[in-house]
Amino acid sequence: MKRVEPSLRSSIKPWLFQVEPHPDESFGHFLGRFRRANYLSGAQLSTLLRARSYLVSYWECPSRQRRPSSAHLEQLSQLTGVDMLRFQRMCSPLGIRLYWPTRLCPDCYAEAPWHKLTWQLADQSACDIHQRSLLTQCPCCHHAFQLPSYWATGECDRCRLPFAQMGLTLGSCQ
Ligand SMILES: [Zn+2]
Ligand SMILES: [Zn+2]
Repeated sequence: MKRVEPSLRSSIKPWLFQVEPHPDESFGHFLGRFRRANYLSGAQLSTLLRARSYLVSYWECPSRQRRPSSAHLEQLSQLTGVDMLRFQRMCSPLGIRLYWPTRLCPDCYAEAPWHKLTWQLADQSACDIHQRSLLTQCPCCHHAFQLPSYWATGECDRCRLPFAQMGLTLGSCQ
């Protein structure tokens, strides 16, 4: 993580830590990482984007079905230093139906610890790479997963089982 001087055009903006998106990372997971790196709440990031205070939290919650406008993506691009086209790929592609509750492939997560947009595609309930069904809840305590924007520690927020170990747990808790 490096600190980058904002462009002259945006020199009135505060200095922000830049966060590089990961391959296939979902928009919500990226927003959560960017906010935590800069100690910003969803409302504070919305304010920096000159948007209504709830907007960022709506973007992070797929069931709200709010896609960022081009103008907001451009502002977000200036704030984060991430290319606008990259953001458009990270947001759900238009016309593709998403599964709203958060899903997870624990084997993918063990290799690359971030939430992938591909896990939320409605007509794809299995991971192609690992040939396994995507999880929709913790296999230990059966608690639904938090929104990816809250995945700070990569574990179940109730029983603390790490996501990366969920592929090994067959419905039994330690
Ligand atoms: Zn996988
Ligand atoms: Zn759990």
